[in-house]
Amino acid sequence: MPIVTPLTKLLNIRVPVVQGGMQWVGVPELVAAVSNAGGLGLLTALTQPNPDALREAIKKTRKLTDKNFGVNITLLPSINPPDYEGYARAAVEEGVRIFETAGNNPAPFIKFFKQNGCIVIHKCTTIRHAKAAERMGADILSIDGFECAGHPGEEDIGGLVLLERASQELKIPYIASGGFADGQGLVSAMALGASGVNMGTRFMCTVESPIHQNIKEKIVASTEQDTVHIFRTLRNTARVFKNKVSQEVVRLERRPQGAKFEELRELVSGARGRVVYEIGDPDYGVWSAGIVIGLIRDIPTCEELLSRIESEAENAIERLNKLSVAKAKL
Ligand code: NAD
Repeated sequence: MPIVTPLTKLLNIRVPVVQGGMQWVGVPELVAAVSNAGGLGLLTALTQPNPDALREAIKKTRKLTDKNFGVNITLLPSINPPDYEGYARAAVEEGVRIFETAGNNPAPFIKFFKQNGCIVIHKCTTIRHAKAAERMGADILSIDGFECAGHPGEEDIGGLVLLERASQELKIPYIASGGFADGQGLVSAMALGASGVNMGTRFMCTVESPIHQNIKEKIVASTEQDTVHIFRTLRNTARVFKNKVSQEVVRLERRPQGAKFEELRELVSGARGRVVYEIGDPDYGVWSAGIVIGLIRDIPTCEELLSRIESEAENAIERLNKLSVAKAKL
C-alpha cells in the first residue's frame, strides 16, 4: 500500500523520497529514473555550464519521464560565482514548478519561485534557518542533519534531535535529509514527524547514476568511517569521501597557521572532483559522500531501490504495530 504523506500529495508522487541536488550527479538520466520509479528527481542546476544548458537538460528530462521532477539551486561559496538568477529564470521559463533551494540567502529565490506559482523545498541545517525559510514562503523544508554529504552547516546537530525540534517548531511539512538509504530510515523519519526523506549518496550508487562504476563499487566497499569534514576552519564545512586529497586538505587546515582558501583551491575544485566521477579514480579529487555510505551495499536500479524502500517501510511499520499488539495483550 502506498504511503501517503503531505509530501506525496503536494508533489503528486507515489514514494515519499526526494533525490536531493548533487553536483555532477543530478543529470536528466538519473532524475527521470527517480521520478519514473515514483520519487521526485531533481536536476542540479549548477551541474549545467550555463542557464541555456539547463534548459536543454530540462527538455531532455521531459523526454525521459512524464512524471514530476524539479530543479535544485544551491547558493554557496563558489570558485566562479554562477548566474543563479539566470538558472532560476531559465527553469521557470521551461515550465519547471518544483524547486529545491539550499545554502545562503534564499529569500529572493523563494520569492521569485512563489511569484511564479512554484513549490519550493528549502534545505537547511538549523531550526532558525528553517523558521526563516517558512516565513519567506517555502512550502516544504528539508531538514539536513549532521550525517549529510556536502555542507552540513557549522552547528553539528544530528538528525534525531534536529527532526524532533522541527516537529516542535515548524508549521509546514518537512522531510528528513542526511543519513537515509532505506525503508527503516524512512519510517524512523516519519516517526519524528517528517513527511518523507531526501537521499543523495544512496542515489549516487544506482545503475542510472552517471558516475563511474569504480566509484559506485568504492561506495559499496566503504564504511560509515570513510567520510571526513573539510573547510571546518573556513566555516564552509563539507562532508566528503575520506581519500588522499581530502586528508591533505584537513592536514593543511590543521597547521598552526591554518589555510586560506587560495591554498586549498587547486585540491578542492569541483572541476577536479568531477574527474573522479569520469575516470573512476576515487583519489583524484574531492567528492561528496554522507555517513550513510556505511549502509549502502549494492547498486540497484532506481526502480528496485524505491520498491525495496516501500516494502521495507511496510515491514517496519508492521513490526512496530506488532509491538503495540503485544503490549495490549499483556
Ligand atoms: P567549486 O569548484 O566552486 O568549489 C569547490 C568547493 O570549494 C565547494 O565546496 C565550495 O563551496 C568551496 N568554496 C569555493 N569558494 C570558496 C571560498 N571562497 N571559501 C570557502 N569555500 C569555498 O564548486 P563546484 O563543485 O563547482 O560546485 C559549485 C557550487 O555548487 C559550489 O557552491 C558548491 O558548494 C555547490 N555544490 C552544490 C551541491 C548540490 O548538491 N547542489 C553539491 C556540492 C556542491
